[in-house]
Amino acid sequence: MPASRKPSNVILFFIDGLGIGEAGDNNPLYSTNHIEPLRVYEGNLNSVIFDGIVVPTDPRLGVVGRPQSASGQTTILTGVNAPEVLGYHKQGFPNEKLREVLKEKSIFLQLDRLGVGPNIFVNAYTPQFFSGTPRWKSATTCAVEASTLQFRRIPDLLGRKAIFHDFTNRGLQQRGFDVPIFSPIDAAEILANFQHQYRFILYEHFITDKLGHDMDHERARQHLPKLAKFIRETLERLDLHNTTFILTSDHGNIEDLSVRNHTLNNVPTIIWGRRKDQIAKGIKDLTDITPAVIKLLTDE
Ligand SMILES: [Zn+2]
Repeated sequence: MPASRKPSNVILFFIDGLGIGEAGDNNPLYSTNHIEPLRVYEGNLNSVIFDGIVVPTDPRLGVVGRPQSASGQTTILTGVNAPEVLGYHKQGFPNEKLREVLKEKSIFLQLDRLGVGPNIFVNAYTPQFFSGTPRWKSATTCAVEASTLQFRRIPDLLGRKAIFHDFTNRGLQQRGFDVPIFSPIDAAEILANFQHQYRFILYEHFITDKLGHDMDHERARQHLPKLAKFIRETLERLDLHNTTFILTSDHGNIEDLSVRNHTLNNVPTIIWGRRKDQIAKGIKDLTDITPAVIKLLTDE
């Protein structure tokens, strides 16, 4: 790599419970306006802003049953077929077996070992998380703990160096934290700014899965345009010659509000920016995400 060139980077934008569904009123990704680039459904996979490529991605991974969060997220964050390791799709939070997989194969740890960094998980954690042993730990929490990464906290968020999972901070205000409300543009500025400092940048968003379980059409209609704006405004601010932006999900849910469960649908992996065509060709299922990130950050 010529000394004059900036190191490349990757933003992984994880959205829980976002699948590719059918066109119809039960699919808010079809029926809601102003949600580009999330307006992704069967028959509408070919035109995404900033020349993004949509790759339908298999979250079922050859294991019967509905794809679930713990095993799907573990797969995304390790490249290991976690449902296959378990023999089933695991809901919610990783069990001991999945925690072992994350401890050995966390993407952050793999990057540490390759000397690729610095890297960042941008979601802010509250003091309550650190003050007691949490009963449940998400796949990403385990993946971060397996590496040399530090968790972002409220002071980072106040300094615009972290984002809460809802990206607006409303959830923090409701819990009594004295934090400002971030607009989608604030969140985008913060996320895009990390491109100057970090190689691998992870953000995670969960509200979509909650809205899917709640079958909440009204809130989905309110929320999705804001989430889409956050993504658009981030893309506007990225140097896409140097940065690859990968959006993906662990399983379908919000794309069919007629059912409370996760769906069996493919999820959209949407890729923008540096080497997007080459990377898109290598993605078939959720085990391909971690290798794609590593390839982008090592094979200059
Ligand atoms: Zn769920």
